[in-house]
Amino acid sequence: MSRSLDPASHALLRPNGPEPMTHTRPVWAEISRSRLLHNYRHLQRLAGPAAELLAVVKADAYGHGRTGCARSLVGEGARWFGVTSVEEATALRGVCPDANILAMSGLWIGEGEAVLDHRVTPVVWDPMHLELLMAADVRRGAGPGQIPVHLEIDTGMSRQGVQLKNLASLLDRFGSASPLRLEAVMTHFHSPERAAPTAEQMKCFAAAVETIAGRGLRPIYLSAGSSADLLDQSTVELAALAEKHGARRMFRSGLALYGYSPQSADPGSLEPVLAWKSRVTSLRAIDAGTTAGYGATFQAQRPTRLALLPVGYADGLDRGLSNRGCVLVRGQRAPIAGRISMDQTMVDVTDIPGVTVGDEVALIGEQHGERITAAGVAQLTGTIAYEVLCGIAARVPRVMVD
Ligand SMILES: *Cc1c(COP(=O)(O)O)cnc(C)c1O
Repeated sequence: MSRSLDPASHALLRPNGPEPMTHTRPVWAEISRSRLLHNYRHLQRLAGPAAELLAVVKADAYGHGRTGCARSLVGEGARWFGVTSVEEATALRGVCPDANILAMSGLWIGEGEAVLDHRVTPVVWDPMHLELLMAADVRRGAGPGQIPVHLEIDTGMSRQGVQLKNLASLLDRFGSASPLRLEAVMTHFHSPERAAPTAEQMKCFAAAVETIAGRGLRPIYLSAGSSADLLDQSTVELAALAEKHGARRMFRSGLALYGYSPQSADPGSLEPVLAWKSRVTSLRAIDAGTTAGYGATFQAQRPTRLALLPVGYADGLDRGLSNRGCVLVRGQRAPIAGRISMDQTMVDVTDIPGVTVGDEVALIGEQHGERITAAGVAQLTGTIAYEVLCGIAARVPRVMVD
């Protein structure tokens, strides 16, 4: 039935994939290329010409689609990308043959060769990482200084990164005959929702940089700071540290690229890149007293009009939004009625005149000035915009627009 509706907008449901007809269900995410590039340019201005801006596209570009985002950013001049794993890096290499690709979570057994073959730059901090790379070098014959690595310092996350007490022995592996080249010293600060890294973290990072310089190693980059530090412009000490050691700063930004701030519900001049959409596929009127959804947790207090959306928690729509969240229909907020099912959700459209089958619905996005953001959704479900965005399931096709 919906096939007869608005065929022009249905083109959006058919991305240029190999099997476009597999995406006929009206649930999709629109990725705005112009907004992504707007955000990227804004972040570049904040970083300044002296610093390098690395675009974090891990986890399928925070749910925005790695391939489309990386291609667009390369077109805008991006030269550095950050992904989580060697696996993600290898996949990205096929899309960006010339970019620098940083695998930010180390490497695992069996991945040393892939690092060399696909020119991946691994973040390292454990002797095992260095051994895997050196063993791969023996088999591939890369030669001295031919494997760039970014050495992570643990400044308080206690997740990755070499602890200061183990730094000296790790540096023993970076002699002049080593195939490893220390291209960057990096760290990841623990509280992006707060303004600046603490004095403790800064002290720790500076001490590591001094130790490294004391060995005569000359990293090109000091890679410290994510979206929060870039938006905040708070880390003047890092700029001074970089200058002292003749290094350039590198910022690694993810969330801000996609239009959100880790610190504030108001992203300032950033623009949300993703809109998550669906359509009303069915409508019904129910009497006062009638229930809706599993567990009958919704009971109509008045004659009520319910619209059915073909999207549920299997698509990443958090079940915690049941009877709490809203969607946009005809520019107005329609409350979610009853429990979100695996593949379906009902919304109350009683107060929205004229809703018909085929109407476009925004789960995240804008309609006539009304806006639902990933940050707003996160607030309702007690999480962060990061999780909402990368929680949108793989079965929801991403369509690049504008
Ligand atoms: C995810 C990640 C980032 C990006 O953080 P945002 O807050 O999204 O900018 C930077 N560095 C590392 C190591 C990361 O894992």
